[in-house]
Amino acid sequence: MINRSTDKVKMPEQDPVERRGNFREVATGYTEEMAIEEAKRCLQCKHKPCMDGCPVHVQIPEFIDLVAAGEFKAAYEMITATNSLPAICGRVCPQENQCEVLCVRGKKGEPVAIGRLERFVADWAMENDPPVLEPAPSNDVKVAVIGSGPAGLACAGDLAKRGYQVTIFEAFHTPGGVLMYGIPEFRLPKALVQAEIDQLREQGVEIQTNMVIGKVYDLEDLKKEGYQAVFVGTGAGLPVFLGVPGENLNGVYSANEFLTRINLMKAYDFPNCDTPIRVGQHVAVIGGGNVAMDAARSAKRLGAREVSIIYRRSEAELPARDEEIEHAKEEGINFCLLHNPIRIIGNDEGWVTGIECLKMKLGEPDASGRRRPIAIPGSETVIDLETVIVAIGQSPNPLIKNTTPDLETQAWGGIVADDTTMATSKEGVFAGGDVVTGAATVILAMGAGKQAAEAIDAYLQGKPLSPEHPAVVFGVNPVDL
Ligand code: FAD
Ligand code: SF4
Ligand code: SF4
Repeated sequence: MINRSTDKVKMPEQDPVERRGNFREVATGYTEEMAIEEAKRCLQCKHKPCMDGCPVHVQIPEFIDLVAAGEFKAAYEMITATNSLPAICGRVCPQENQCEVLCVRGKKGEPVAIGRLERFVADWAMENDPPVLEPAPSNDVKVAVIGSGPAGLACAGDLAKRGYQVTIFEAFHTPGGVLMYGIPEFRLPKALVQAEIDQLREQGVEIQTNMVIGKVYDLEDLKKEGYQAVFVGTGAGLPVFLGVPGENLNGVYSANEFLTRINLMKAYDFPNCDTPIRVGQHVAVIGGGNVAMDAARSAKRLGAREVSIIYRRSEAELPARDEEIEHAKEEGINFCLLHNPIRIIGNDEGWVTGIECLKMKLGEPDASGRRRPIAIPGSETVIDLETVIVAIGQSPNPLIKNTTPDLETQAWGGIVADDTTMATSKEGVFAGGDVVTGAATVILAMGAGKQAAEAIDAYLQGKPLSPEHPAVVFGVNPVDL
């Protein structure tokens, strides 16, 4: 029987006061009863509009119907037929702009909680009936995947299922890309990411870490090593800075460095772990996207008394997900809106002591569609603090571009790749994810990796590169330049 409630079944969460003192996951997940109750809100629409919003084409009504019937294992199999990372997507996909925005239940009330149900199913399977995976029969064709973020993992997984001998080359000592080094533990537990990576290994994917392509090997070397096609999924990990005086002072971090120290190097557990981090009592995070929210909420958990998001537009223009903004507010993060930094101030020892900002007002919409911030002359104001974290965007690392002269790139450094086949200007080289689109989302990167796998398969069989699914062109871009 259909559940007529206009509201989603609420997600249980850690209390805000308790959680801002720990790195445990904020949302604790549906119980079986909650999942069944929520699944019964689905109307099983014949034309499946929700599916048009999912870049990896999860069979949404079908898996939800199985959840409603208590058939959780079958629901897991239904989801993983097209999505190899459901525990991750169920947590970090911006569902409100993707599958859920197209759900008909959203016309009168809240959409079906597709993401929460996907998360429930993935967690249930891991806990109760983990899949037993084994390599597909090998076709002895070697393919190299550069980068182990969601784009590389999705591409590798789909190629391995088709029998290819896939090797992932990852620059860091730990695979997972932003899933491991960027998104904090309290939003995406690393054990889950590790479990999904272990599954890939069980399917025969080899992962070589500490392998910086462009230094250890270049793309030509990979060809000489017998790799017949290459997928480049190296992301956009190069931080963008403000370009204001004082940015080289001690106590100024890029959000990337700050979050990497915390997530990958476990700085929150110093001295048990080797990498320290100093946050002080007063912290400012510059920017208003998901990365800024993650950095601010991490700084709070590291013991900072006052953490402020400094953002040059108003709340309406904040690019972060609503849920993240809400969680940040609940945890006591201040929002210093309509302020733009013009100078970081330091003491004689070279440490940050404050930041000078100009107040802003909003003008007409700019090219991004958001109202343009305009500085108010004479409105300079100084905020005292010890740490500044810059979270205004990332661009691709230029290493592969610089070592591959015949690889066409955009002026901003992104690799040029075909929208649907992900083929680049270089024969046998495909690319996808943030290195092509600029900083975007996990699910768009995964979608690109899957499309590339399909095209690589066709290429290696001498068939035309025509993927079954066209590219999904919408989604959110959390960058706030
Ligand atoms: P990445 O995840 O960046 O992975 C690229 C990998 O390539 C890295 O491991 C890198 O070390 C490796 N690499 C780079 N150069 C080389 C080289 N030369 N040789 C070998 N390896 C190399 N998206 C969401 O959907 N929801 C969210 O909530 C969300 N939150 C985010 C929070 C933060 C803090 C950040 C930084 C991003 C967030 N995003 C979020 C964006 C999302 O994580 C990215 O869009 C996604 O990870 C891109 O995937 P990718 O595979 O293209 O690249
Ligand atoms: Fe929605 Fe993401 Fe799951 Fe697709 S993968 S159904 S977009 S939550
Ligand atoms: Fe169910 Fe919503 Fe999809 Fe309809 S649009 S099938 S109600 S999830």
